[in-house]
Amino acid sequence: MIRIGILGAGGRMGQALLAAAAASPGLTLAGGIDRAGGDAIGAVVGGITIGDDAAALAHICDVLIDFTVPAALAGNLAAARAAACAIVIGTTGLEPEHHTAIDAAAAAIAVVQAANTSLGIAVTAALVRRAAAALADWDIEIAELHHRMKVDAPSGTALALGQAAAAGRGVALADVAVRSRDGITGPRVDGSIGFASLRGGSAAGDHIVLFAGEGERIEIVHRAENRDIFARGALTAAAWVTGKPAGRYTMDDVLGLHDR
Ligand code: NAD
Repeated sequence: MIRIGILGAGGRMGQALLAAAAASPGLTLAGGIDRAGGDAIGAVVGGITIGDDAAALAHICDVLIDFTVPAALAGNLAAARAAACAIVIGTTGLEPEHHTAIDAAAAAIAVVQAANTSLGIAVTAALVRRAAAALADWDIEIAELHHRMKVDAPSGTALALGQAAAAGRGVALADVAVRSRDGITGPRVDGSIGFASLRGGSAAGDHIVLFAGEGERIEIVHRAENRDIFARGALTAAAWVTGKPAGRYTMDDVLGLHDR
């Protein structure tokens, strides 16, 4: 049995992970922690009591799963390293210094980091990368729809799909992205990758990557129905990374998507 520890166990993703872990054969829930002094501390969920000591939890786990806040990352990495425990990082909003810290930790332990842990998005990105490479002169537009409470645009996942398209073409997304259009924009710039963001209702997240050529179009579409998909993918990553050599891995590694 693979022993799992949930960091951020009191949060929305933490709760989804606790429920999904309890229903996963081959995994056993070793514990969960949340912010010291927070409301979640002491709550009993899925047979474990939520605590606040990541270092102690790491010592009784094979793998930690981190869905917290960027400010917690350094402590979580230190806890994993000290216990020689693997870690899956799903927390988003990471800055360059966080990625530097992940790289340093990955010299000693196995780390999977993914801003979107859904298995469907990983496959979607792989399809987009291949299509962008094969259809080098087609126009690429990425549209996303999210619930009315989302505060940022384009979504991190839309940008990740843009990065996959740019990687397929061997260019940097920052050089070709058009993140919004308004007014007299002039004709489309060849090679650009456009984004459009729609907001409304309770949509968990739809992403549509449109490849438009002369006389034909392809649409690659992913629709998220709920956040359980992120929990399931994170648990798949946790099972995969357990026992792997030190290094930094992605969902492409988890799913073996690199050369397909
Ligand atoms: P949330 O606010 O509901 O939960 C975060 C939890 O982390 C809270 O319970 C908070 O108290 C806890 N926390 C804060 N500081 C902590 C610390 N130092 N130690 C331990 N716990 C701490 O947020 P959420 O919706 O569950 O999302 C969490 C993170 O995961 C966000 O960054 C979000 O963007 C990201 N996310 C990633 C994916 C993905 O697929 N990778 C999917 C959904 C959300």
